[in-house]
Amino acid sequence: MVSDVGIASVGELLVELVRMDKNSHHLTAGLYQGPFASGAPGIFIDQAAKVGGRCIFVGAVGDDAFGKVILERLRANHVDTRLIRTLAGVPTGSAFVSYNEDGSRDFVYNIARSAATQFGGDTDIAELAAFNLAYLHVSGAALGDAGMCSKILGICRALHAKGVRISFDPNVRKELIDSPDYFAAVREIMGMCVVFLPSDDDAEALFPGQSLEAFSPALFNLGIEHIVLKRGAHGCRVLSAGGEHFKLAAHSVDVLDPTGAGDCFCATFVTLLASKRFSLEQVLQRANAAGALAVTKIGPMEGNSDLAIIEAFLDMRG
Ligand code: ATP
Ligand code: MG
Repeated sequence: MVSDVGIASVGELLVELVRMDKNSHHLTAGLYQGPFASGAPGIFIDQAAKVGGRCIFVGAVGDDAFGKVILERLRANHVDTRLIRTLAGVPTGSAFVSYNEDGSRDFVYNIARSAATQFGGDTDIAELAAFNLAYLHVSGAALGDAGMCSKILGICRALHAKGVRISFDPNVRKELIDSPDYFAAVREIMGMCVVFLPSDDDAEALFPGQSLEAFSPALFNLGIEHIVLKRGAHGCRVLSAGGEHFKLAAHSVDVLDPTGAGDCFCATFVTLLASKRFSLEQVLQRANAAGALAVTKIGPMEGNSDLAIIEAFLDMRG
């Protein structure tokens, strides 16, 4: 462990099936690879544990083979799974992804009626508080579902009131916005978080036409300390309330599967920031390397890497 850094995340646990050929839009028969453990907050917590966090997750899976895939994966990386419920008679959530030649992707989700949304219990908040958390991380994809949104907001409000720091990746998934309260929830969590990690697309959805320089002052006024912009193959930036600003180009790598890079990046950034072992620039360098490594493997969390691999990659790249 990098130090005693307690990290929690909450939300949808899924398996993912990756279509092997491009441009199928899932409309023709073809080969899929998987099941891979997935779900944005699940990818996050797996990577947070890999870089040394002491990690716990609030979620739910079905009592089926897909649920076992997820639980075994998280346990193998020492994530505490005691707050992951296993529900009888409900399928584990799933996502099917198919890539197109232009880099876009099509998803078919089975989340709303799956175990993925049915997390949460009366004792979760007390158990999370007792876990001595440095950060609670929220991925916004789940906020489009009214049931998940209210549970996640409840956990955020309770832990925020106890002084737990919140990191927030808005992770806007237009296909999953099914609730009129979605944008209000995003705004409320922006008001509670201290680290905000949008992608370029998220920033465009939330602050249309505005640059980071234009939308950041209002966020710093809300109490956000670091805004981290994930820019895919264009790299990343961090801008801090204290005036620090770093910008990194992406590493040149063979892209096999970009899904999950953002969650892997966020986990590396938040966990290493919380460890206080690195400067802000060094934290960003490690997150940027973790994101690059993530896209080189098929499967949303198969490219997650521990700190030794990330640092070896950085040494090699100079
Ligand atoms: P997702 O939500 O699909 O997981 P995201 O949009 O939140 O992803 P990205 O910007 O795609 O996040 O990826 C996060 C980081 O990973 C980038 O800022 C960059 O550091 C790294 N990364 C992503 N794609 C590439 C790439 N093609 N080449 C090198 N590095 C990449
Ligand atoms: Mg994202």
